Amino acid sequence: MSEFDVDLFVIGAGSGGVRAGRIAAGYGARVMVAEEYRVGGTCVIRGCVPKKLLVYASRFADDFHDAAGFGWTIPATRFDWATLIRNKDTEIDRLEEIYRANLGKAGVEIADDRAVIEDAHTVRLVKTGERVRARIILVAVGAHPTLEPKIPGGDLAITSNEVFHLEALPKRILVVGAGYIAVEFAGIFNGLGSDVILLHRGDKLLRGFDEDVRDALGEAYARRGISLALNRTISRLDKTVDGIAATLSDGSVVHVDEVLVATGRRPNTAHLGLEKVGITVDKAGAIPVDAYSQTLVPSIYAIGDVTNRANLTPIAIREGHAFADTVFGNRPTMVDHSLIPTAVFSTPEIGVIGYGEEAARALYGDIDVYMSAFRPMRATLSGSQERVMLKLIVDRATDKVVGVHIVGHDAGEMIQLAGIAVTMGATKADFDRTIAVHPTAAEELVTMR
Ligand code: NDP
Repeated sequence: MSEFDVDLFVIGAGSGGVRAGRIAAGYGARVMVAEEYRVGGTCVIRGCVPKKLLVYASRFADDFHDAAGFGWTIPATRFDWATLIRNKDTEIDRLEEIYRANLGKAGVEIADDRAVIEDAHTVRLVKTGERVRARIILVAVGAHPTLEPKIPGGDLAITSNEVFHLEALPKRILVVGAGYIAVEFAGIFNGLGSDVILLHRGDKLLRGFDEDVRDALGEAYARRGISLALNRTISRLDKTVDGIAATLSDGSVVHVDEVLVATGRRPNTAHLGLEKVGITVDKAGAIPVDAYSQTLVPSIYAIGDVTNRANLTPIAIREGHAFADTVFGNRPTMVDHSLIPTAVFSTPEIGVIGYGEEAARALYGDIDVYMSAFRPMRATLSGSQERVMLKLIVDRATDKVVGVHIVGHDAGEMIQLAGIAVTMGATKADFDRTIAVHPTAAEELVTMR
């Protein structure tokens, strides 16, 4: 008899934990996964997936508007939040079942319980009190939205956890922050017809993105009627008879139905028993790991948002897969975090891979910048004020394309393909010799001179 009950105990059945568990089981490992909430994790249950469904819903407004210029008469439209949320919930339930079924098919045992670490090889299930001895423990517990800054009345605000379950579409909403989540939800509520105020402590949205991308999104949001309250923070929230009065740092007061705070997320490392095994979290609350996702305790690994490397679902999945290959597949695999294509599902959408202009200049010195901004063809008949922006950054010494930035419809789809080229080390000459697909917006990627 083995001294261990399982070869691998995964804490957290999100994107990363599920992938790690399934792949390890495929290598013949006995695997158990504990999940205290719902199988699927943030992405499937209250993140990427339901968010994208809401984004789709919000974009019909543009379609209805644009249709007239193409000869369609659209009868008066009406949006029903309850229907959207009900249908979204049904789809999320379906996906959770698929995740559960796939774990089952792979031979992974699921414990619907919170697990905490007792020692380097033992976890305890909190509800049942059961102790499980594992050769390897994988921490894949993710992160949670924080309610920052702490202000009087702060508990009147909601986070991205609650926003998916609002009983009614807010007529007026204040969104705090200007990262991925804030700009995505500002776009969603704007499209669904809410009055949206986007409040940010800085002077532009999406810090860290290329400046032209930041400008393009700011201009597009202003054009769409989103009220941008920049260089300000929130000071207090008070309940009123018909909603919430939000006092801003400049002394002004705005009256809204909901306040959505999206000012970042923090790893779920509290009360996990990490201190018992001598794992100290960093300033952000994340578990430090090496390139193979191993912690200082040789039998304990960590992947995904709890390690705060690049907090994106495909990265957690990649890290989970690499972990399983390394530990159970006898194939040591590191994850390259250097070139990550990413999309922001704002409206207009953003797709990015590689460096922004400033960062590329600092790194490479001599760079060439190609940019094209235009009204997309669809806008010619629809009369929409929508614009598209594409930008290429090229390292002059090697001619390699080191940054691609797209703002506009389907930018997320486009950047996946541009991402292949950039990952392969494509040069500007490679882009130039690619025949354009006409008429598309993406053809600008290969026609910019
Ligand atoms: P981000 O870290 O992206 O953005 C946080 C925002 O809040 C920034 O604008 C930041 O301002 C602001 N902020 C932070 N602290 C404060 C504070 N104390 N007071 C006022 N403003 C503050 O976090 P998100 O919550 O938007 O998203 C978390 C992560 O989730 C992202 O980093 C991303 O990795 C992931 N995600 C990815 C998505 C995708 O791929 N499409 C979608 C959603 C989430 P400043 O810029 O000044 O620091």
